[in-house]
Amino acid sequence: MFSLEGMTALVTGASGGIGSEIAKALARQGARLALSGSNGGKLRSFREELNDEIGGDHVEITCDLSNSESVEELVPATIDTLGKLDILVNNAGITRDNLAMRMKDEEWEQVMTINLESTFRLMRAAARPMMKARFGRIVTITSVVGATGNPGQMNYAAAKAGVTGMTKSFAQEVASRGITANCVAPGFIRTPMTDVLPDAQKEALNQRIPMGRMGEGEDIGSAVAFLSSREADYITGQTLHVNGGMAMIS
Ligand code: NAP
Repeated sequence: MFSLEGMTALVTGASGGIGSEIAKALARQGARLALSGSNGGKLRSFREELNDEIGGDHVEITCDLSNSESVEELVPATIDTLGKLDILVNNAGITRDNLAMRMKDEEWEQVMTINLESTFRLMRAAARPMMKARFGRIVTITSVVGATGNPGQMNYAAAKAGVTGMTKSFAQEVASRGITANCVAPGFIRTPMTDVLPDAQKEALNQRIPMGRMGEGEDIGSAVAFLSSREADYITGQTLHVNGGMAMIS
């Protein structure tokens, strides 16, 4: 079940805490991957680790998502390298937290550019070849805070809520062409992004999670692998919340 054998996938932010686990989950199910990120060195060592650990002939494509021209080149470069694109996983994301009153224009703009605008550009670019193939899977990583809000994250929450609205609109436009578009919304996941939180804050967060712990990257990887599979054919425009019960959103 959930075989991705013969499929190709582009994963952004593939060397990050969650992205690397998404990449491993897709590779284990048989997909061939284009791993993307802005740091070529980090990507190369992750690709080597992936090829050694799981096998497969995965490739890396460096792309700075804050540069719109580079973003426009990413899907064509993936197709040039892998021959086709079945699955797009928009995972890369940044935070630039600050209270609203202190938030700088650059903090707003950087988060919007990387978390929202680049996702739009990649979905638009992927749509054409996927429509031709009459098959495609787009999975975008949003966040629980896109649904609940979070103090200090007005920019991030807006971008993540934006991504879910964008996904629902896109899903309606492309459903008849065999393309699904969904989001996965992690709660708090143990990664470099959350490792920087002070211990007291992590403890307070764990107390808000019915399962009593932060999630792991693998928890997100399995959700993405499922939504990427043929078995998820009738699921589109949805957000799958993976948060240990921290927010029960219907
Ligand atoms: P992470 O470990 O910091 O990884 C972020 C990834 O994004 C890195 O691979 C990084 O690649 C890439 N990235 C950042 N800026 C980029 C740029 N300008 N161009 C291209 N790539 C860029 O973060 P994470 O925790 O794995 O987060 C992954 C996703 O999950 C994000 O969308 C995040 O918002 C979401 N999320 C995380 C949590 C959590 O608890 N960790 C919760 C909810 C949602 P380079 O280093 O190569 O640039």
